[in-house]
Amino acid sequence: MTKILHIIVLQWFFSCLYAQSGSLRPHQSTPVTSNSTLTSDSGLAISRLDPCIEAKAALETVTAFSKTDQYVTALNQIQTAFLNKGKEHVIAFGKDDKNNILTSFLNSGAQSNSTVPNMANAFADLHNHPGNHPPDAGDLYGLIDINQKQKDYNARFVVTQNNTVYALVITNASAANSFNVKYPRDLSGCFGCSPKFPEALVDEFREMKYGHGCTDEMALAFLLEKYNTGISLLKQHANGAFYILRTAISRNGNNFSFTTINCQ
Ligand SMILES: [Zn+2]
Repeated sequence: MTKILHIIVLQWFFSCLYAQSGSLRPHQSTPVTSNSTLTSDSGLAISRLDPCIEAKAALETVTAFSKTDQYVTALNQIQTAFLNKGKEHVIAFGKDDKNNILTSFLNSGAQSNSTVPNMANAFADLHNHPGNHPPDAGDLYGLIDINQKQKDYNARFVVTQNNTVYALVITNASAANSFNVKYPRDLSGCFGCSPKFPEALVDEFREMKYGHGCTDEMALAFLLEKYNTGISLLKQHANGAFYILRTAISRNGNNFSFTTINCQ
């Protein structure tokens, strides 16, 4: 059994403090102000693929899977369970010997965590967030842990209370493993609670959110790309297709701004 751990809402808000080094790869070419924590560290992520190219196959796979009866049924089960009971609920997806999609039982968890059922040949899971926050650090590190043991298990879907659907997808397992080593999760602060990003990343997240008005999904997308996590944050469009969330940073004098950018 693998635990999905989440930062509960208050932790998410208040653990994402300060900010530190960094610039999102090709989108920022100039060093930043000395008093900003968003300083340049151009050594990061130099030799990675274009995220749009890297995520293209995943987008198609995830979108196709989201149209299957198994996914649609599981989504309905989870949404119904949340309406009836609140809290988190999770279902895993696997395959039988003939490549047919299998669906686990629905496992109900607590307000901010749930346990993924074991599944033969598992490749993805789906859980709800009782609030409207996108996947968090707990979701990310948990997915890396699973992928290290089961290489085909590379996607984690999250549906929020307002029915927005996200997916974290590992597009480069080697990069994900490297990120996990270089930026290990922070388990401090409370017993049994969700892992957080290390302090430097939490700082950056908070600066983006509270200093520059970024949404949680924008800040997460920025960090995923900047730190070469090998993981993409996808979001489902109203037409059913998933697209990759990307955030670019730009500088005008001493001011920074962040914008959502799209793959062409
Ligand atoms: Zn989650």
